[in-house]
Amino acid sequence: MHVLSLRPPELTRRDFVKLASASLALLGLSQTLRPRVVKALEESVGKTPVIWLEGQDCCGCTESLVNSLEPLATTVLLDTISLRYHETLMAASGHQSEEALTKTIAEGGYLLVIEGSIPLAEDGLFCTVGGRPFKDIVRDAARNAAAIVPVGSCASFGGIPRSGPTDAVGYLFRGTQRHHYFDDVTGNKPVINLPTCPLHSERLVAVIVHYLTFSTVPPLDHFNRPLAFYGYNQHENCERRGHFDAGRFVTDWGDPAQQGWCLYLKGCRGPWSSQDCWKRLWNNRTNYCIQANTPCVACSEPEFYESFSPIYERQFDVKLPGVGRVNIDKVMATIAGVAAGGAAIDIVVSRLTGRWKNGNKVEEVKTEEKEG
Ligand code: SF4
Repeated sequence: MHVLSLRPPELTRRDFVKLASASLALLGLSQTLRPRVVKALEESVGKTPVIWLEGQDCCGCTESLVNSLEPLATTVLLDTISLRYHETLMAASGHQSEEALTKTIAEGGYLLVIEGSIPLAEDGLFCTVGGRPFKDIVRDAARNAAAIVPVGSCASFGGIPRSGPTDAVGYLFRGTQRHHYFDDVTGNKPVINLPTCPLHSERLVAVIVHYLTFSTVPPLDHFNRPLAFYGYNQHENCERRGHFDAGRFVTDWGDPAQQGWCLYLKGCRGPWSSQDCWKRLWNNRTNYCIQANTPCVACSEPEFYESFSPIYERQFDVKLPGVGRVNIDKVMATIAGVAAGGAAIDIVVSRLTGRWKNGNKVEEVKTEEKEG
């Protein structure tokens, strides 16, 4: 049973070609693969089941998806795959919706999308659906999934709820730490994290198209994020980097002369952020945070939000693996003392964290003791 009605008759070959071209561009793959992608998409219409679970979340990732004016996301989700269960979007409710979930899990072979963090404290009682702890629902759904896609910062790393008392974790990670709570049901299944707060729908579309075409996932980094989207450092690619290097920082929001200057002193976490927002853009390719005069909060990172708070403030300590808490003001004072060039911040951060090299992630993921 499809909870959402599909509209395959509305899709033409031209639609598939357009979707294939856009997806290949998103993934940075050759357009020579387009015929193969088109064929895979045509053959997948209504056949690839997807279960979308929501836990400790604000529904922002779903909002981001459905508010996309770009037809790509809705075309893939509503017309290409078979979205069997989505608590916010499905028309069914109560027992009917739970039956759809149970039936799809029993059939197996679906993509499992997880939105929201998973609270483990108090045996999961901080988030229950239909009287069941969310962690148990995730466990059941993960067991028969073909691949698992945690979307947004919460499902990837714990996100904002991780700063609370519920032991909110992502599917694989508790912040930067790899936990093993779901290892027994994950096995060798691919897990693709798509953090940022909220999800950028194009990244999910590209992952789904890649999966439908090649039955594999794109290359991932140490935090299971596709390198095609998360292999870039914001600070390295920022259009305001010239101002950083020249020492021109926004200090007064009301001063027109400072328009477009570097936002570091207003709390920008761009030097710690790895994503392609600067070229992918948001709001249907209108802009992104820094272009809209808002500091980057590094929501793509496992440290978000707890280690980077309070956001929009320059003075903060950041907890770094193997180093402990580092006062960034002291780091910047050191940089100012040893180099006039803004590139020095990358060098200092790289030495402190071991996470950056030439703008690329090189971090080692710490592993927690296996949980019972
Ligand atoms: Fe851009 Fe932020 Fe780096 Fe300034 S600190 S150059 S605004 S990423």
